Amino acid sequence: MLTWRIGDVTVTRVVEMELPVPYSPKHSFLKEATPEALKEMPWLVPHFVTPDGALMLSIHALCVDAPGLKLVVDTCVGNDKPRYLTRRQALQTNFLEKMAEAGFARETVDAVVCTHLHVDHVGWNTMKDGERFVPTFPNARYLIGREEYEHWKDVNEDETPQIMADSVTPIFEAGLAQTVEMDHRISPELRLVPTPGHTPGHVSVAIESRGETAFITGDMMHHPCQVSRPDWTSEFDGDKQAGAARRRTMIREWADKPCLVIGTHFAAPTAGRIVSDGAGYRFVA
Ligand SMILES: [Zn+2]
Repeated sequence: MLTWRIGDVTVTRVVEMELPVPYSPKHSFLKEATPEALKEMPWLVPHFVTPDGALMLSIHALCVDAPGLKLVVDTCVGNDKPRYLTRRQALQTNFLEKMAEAGFARETVDAVVCTHLHVDHVGWNTMKDGERFVPTFPNARYLIGREEYEHWKDVNEDETPQIMADSVTPIFEAGLAQTVEMDHRISPELRLVPTPGHTPGHVSVAIESRGETAFITGDMMHHPCQVSRPDWTSEFDGDKQAGAARRRTMIREWADKPCLVIGTHFAAPTAGRIVSDGAGYRFVA
């Protein structure tokens, strides 16, 4: 399992799935990222782009062990939830065993952050117990951006009602959900950073300890190619212009600084630094 240290904080990546996504004009989630266009960024191969031009993507949780606080950032797709993303098959993975191996047995988790309420970020909020979905982390407070929750709670399109019903509503009913401001401070080392664009209430997580810093992106950026091409937008970005503007701003802010950028969908090695490269930037893992 990949692990990083930022001062007194340790971050461990627990993977639910990691896979190549071949380019297809119909289905590509970054439609500008054709195999030809990706060839202009040879540094992406082999970790982030396969030799035949498929984008490598990962769905993982980032388990953050800070002084006095075990925090899980994003909870993947989850088991027993047939979704469009998984071709309507319910996953059955040993994700919770892997979390326990990482030192994050589910009863020991103090807090959960969902950077936003999309299907691949809320799944393990709950787990199936008989016919019901119950909170996976019974001793955690689940932190959800107020704007994000207000945006999605009454949306009646696609899978949203189902996602809310099985992965979000049960944590509210159990009294474990806490809607927070987008710049909420979680602990002395951890705070939310507003990064709207992908969704209206999207947040990222900043880690600051003993003079070291890291930044968990969430879906403000899906793939390291967007470090060089911040204008490439995912079909899932709600506000494409705002998303691209946010990426440009953040990349400029991080560039050539010792800030560890940990990508929520970046394949292994997942974390790295942003450095100037000619007129633009690239990601150095
Ligand atoms: Zn996502």
